[in-house]
Amino acid sequence: MPIEHDVLIVGAGLAGMRAAIAAHDAGVDVGVITKVHPVRSHTCCAQGGINGALGDDDSWEAHMFDTVKGADYLGDQDAIEVMTKEAPHDLIELEHMGCPFSRNDDGTVAQRPFGGAGFPRTAYAADISGFVILHTLYEQCLKRGILFYEEWFLLDLVLNDGRAAGIVAVDIVSGKLHEMGAKAVIFATGPTSRVYEASSNSVDCTGDGTAVAYRAGLPLMDLEFVQFHPTGLRNGVLVTEGCRGEGGILVNSEGERFMKNYAPNKMELASRDVVSRAEAEEMAAGRDIDGFIMLDLRPIGTEKIKTRLLQVRELSMDIAGVDPCLAPIPIRPTPHYFMGGIKVDVDGRAPSVSNFFAAGEVSCVSVHGANRLGGNSLLDGLLFGRRAGQAAAETAKQSASAAAFPAGSLTRVEAQIKKLAGRKKGERHAGIRAELQHLMFRDVGIYREKEALESAVAAVAALKKRYARVVVQDKGKRFNTDLLQTLETGHLLDIAECIAIGALNREESRGSHARRDFTERDDKTWLRHSLYTHTPRGPRCDYAPVTITRFQPEERSY
Ligand SMILES: Cc1cc2nc3c(=O)[nH]c(=O)nc-3n(C[C@H](O)[C@H](O)[C@H](O)COP(=O)(O)OP(=O)(O)OC[C@H]3O[C@@H](n4cnc5c(N)ncnc54)[C@H](O)[C@@H]3O)c2cc1C
Repeated sequence: MPIEHDVLIVGAGLAGMRAAIAAHDAGVDVGVITKVHPVRSHTCCAQGGINGALGDDDSWEAHMFDTVKGADYLGDQDAIEVMTKEAPHDLIELEHMGCPFSRNDDGTVAQRPFGGAGFPRTAYAADISGFVILHTLYEQCLKRGILFYEEWFLLDLVLNDGRAAGIVAVDIVSGKLHEMGAKAVIFATGPTSRVYEASSNSVDCTGDGTAVAYRAGLPLMDLEFVQFHPTGLRNGVLVTEGCRGEGGILVNSEGERFMKNYAPNKMELASRDVVSRAEAEEMAAGRDIDGFIMLDLRPIGTEKIKTRLLQVRELSMDIAGVDPCLAPIPIRPTPHYFMGGIKVDVDGRAPSVSNFFAAGEVSCVSVHGANRLGGNSLLDGLLFGRRAGQAAAETAKQSASAAAFPAGSLTRVEAQIKKLAGRKKGERHAGIRAELQHLMFRDVGIYREKEALESAVAAVAALKKRYARVVVQDKGKRFNTDLLQTLETGHLLDIAECIAIGALNREESRGSHARRDFTERDDKTWLRHSLYTHTPRGPRCDYAPVTITRFQPEERSY
């Protein structure tokens, strides 16, 4: 007897758990599967905070404009309007659920300035914002008795005649495969940035849901837009934009506060693409110190560092060997966030498959366009997670039963796993993954150009060929992380192929996509979304219009 729920959610991070709460509260039965324990989901790494126009002087219109401009006009403005209008409601709701936001002296929720924002509108809990949000949502799920399948791994999305019927998943502990049926399925599987070397993301951020949906025929959108965060430590671990929001400054090897040459008005609080490129320029000009730029937090003062940037101080001491109260932290741009993902509308609905939804970083609504503003991602996951949960619950209520699994759905996946696990000789996946991450960082990084991109496309194709003969050494069933990581590497390869091809196709510079050979934004040709649809020969690329409502594209400067 297969497992069945009204709404089945894959992913127990911010978006997945918020969706679960919303669906449960709408009166349907919910199941959530997750490959890691819910509170170990990657959201727990988020430090800086979550955006919403709560202040008297702020407004959703101002938040909307900052987001549209930050996105370099590629975001869909109808969706951005929904997000910025509803943000205060969702933040207050989260606060009422028990989220312990930091406070002003008068007891109101404190908000700090963030990059690209005209007002201090990032609500935070010191520098552990994601951690406390995740724990708040988990408590709410436990209170409601929502059922979690912890340490279960998504293998396949099952469709029946254009409708989501459920998934095939493996219980990691036993190694047993399961069919899980549902009237509505939500993917909330989070980030993909482990396609890159030195990523700020957790090791489990391997784009599983993105790749599984893509292989099932769902189009992915705008994957070529990959954000590099300006302040990564040596190994990619991040120190939050909140460091600069609180008054930290960036200096080069000559002690110069170089952002005055790139963004004279916003300085360190220009949008992330601008600051990361400025750092890359300084490094290319030799004004780095052993490959690093310096982030000086001393202007903030010891007291504030120790209370508001507690985790940043610990990470700096542990990883860089520097106490930021005493000396600047060596940092450099690090691959951080995918603006693209599974194409969905503001209710998380995918256009081409009914009863299927996606929310959080796996999805592309699109509210971040070509460059996301700091603090807008937690908002995206919270708010569109809620909306997807509500919409999925309504869909489930209108469906008499879950769609049947087509015959052989489970045995087909079983056979694929058997073939992979049964191979006796070959290369292990780890070398392929490391080469992929390295070449993506080098050739499809902050700056891009034709020759390097062509070489990346060819190199990814070659790695895919090697992957087709990959071997899994662990032949056991229980907790076979060798097998799971091999599958993850396969996901990364499919996604890398889309990124590299999309970046090569897009002959302009916009937001995070900076071409050395096409340095200008080209609205005439390229003010459009890229869509990637899976075919046996690789992605088919199509394009879709951007929705412009209130703000006509204009030149972007900070
Ligand atoms: C270091 C860092 C700091 C950040 N700080 C901020 C910030 O201050 N403000 C902000 O707005 N944004 C921030 N971000 C971005 C933000 O944290 C993420 O975009 C957001 O938390 C993603 O939430 P999510 O629910 O989509 O994914 P996640 O929290 O990653 O959850 C994904 C879930 O999917 C599950 N899953 C994945 N694959 C499978 C599979 N194959 N089978 C079963 N389950 C699976 C995982 O187990 C997990 O439960 C930061 C990001 C990083 C890396």
